[in-house]
Amino acid sequence: MTFLSQDRIVRATSDAAKLRLVLVDATRAAQSISAKHEARGYAAQLLGESIASALLLASDLKGQGTVQLRFSLSGDISRVNADATPFGLVRAMIPRDEILGTGSFEPMLMPQTLRVIKLDRHGNRLSEGVVEMVSADVSESMTHYLRQSEQGTYALRVMARYDEAESRLRFAGGVLVEAFPGFVPADWSRVEKFLASLDLGGYVRADGQGLRLGALQERFQAEFPLQVHKEFEIEPFCPCSEESVLRALSSLGREGLESLFLENREAEMFCEFCRKRYTVSVPQILGLLNEAEEKEILGKEAELPGEPGEDAGEPGEEK
Ligand SMILES: [Zn+2]
Repeated sequence: MTFLSQDRIVRATSDAAKLRLVLVDATRAAQSISAKHEARGYAAQLLGESIASALLLASDLKGQGTVQLRFSLSGDISRVNADATPFGLVRAMIPRDEILGTGSFEPMLMPQTLRVIKLDRHGNRLSEGVVEMVSADVSESMTHYLRQSEQGTYALRVMARYDEAESRLRFAGGVLVEAFPGFVPADWSRVEKFLASLDLGGYVRADGQGLRLGALQERFQAEFPLQVHKEFEIEPFCPCSEESVLRALSSLGREGLESLFLENREAEMFCEFCRKRYTVSVPQILGLLNEAEEKEILGKEAELPGEPGEDAGEPGEEK
């Protein structure tokens, strides 16, 4: 038995099943992911809040699958991506050059859109919804998405705070509440008020290792009787592979591969989600080039499936 605290996702429902509550403490996952990206300050908070959001939304998936959040912005950061499964696996990214360019300064951000893609366990697309981001605030945009696209009564609050002195996220987590038909509207406004005034900073553990989810749950339970159904641990995870790297590289096309081959050295690629480093050897580049030439000769480009985009988590080439 270990007494170390662990990131958790907790699902509960109310007595008469009129209310569903999901709590998430993703502090360590967000710390580890933002450290891998060398994200500090506001960028780390954005990663933390999108990680918590993806985990909360994934808790709604029936069975296995993945939720992908794609926040599009303009300004110093152009996009924030986070993927999560209902059982607590999560990954997230902000483009590398933008993280390094932002440093610990508060970036200038203009909200654009939020795209939410749901995949089944085989990676097939179940649904996709796009809404305007109502502000650069992750909680507000997520709540707007839930009300617009999921046709239900939802409230969501995520929060992450970076500690400059300790050079890491102090906490990252959030709460999702869904009311089912029959839930008293007056009670719903109490739920909304509770979430709007919720400061997760008040639930940081004394040892600084994450959030006191139990205390948060009790606070909620004092007003709305709940039973905990399930608890999952959270873990950073990225399903990238050498195969996906080669696929991404082949999207360079014949000319791109040819100039890469002529450099006569192995290509270095980093997964943009988990920063794992891949090397592609000269013979592998030649193999891809031969394939590209064959396809060109056969004139089959038009019949090829779409090139893998970054949404598939394809690693990008980086020097
Ligand atoms: Zn990866």
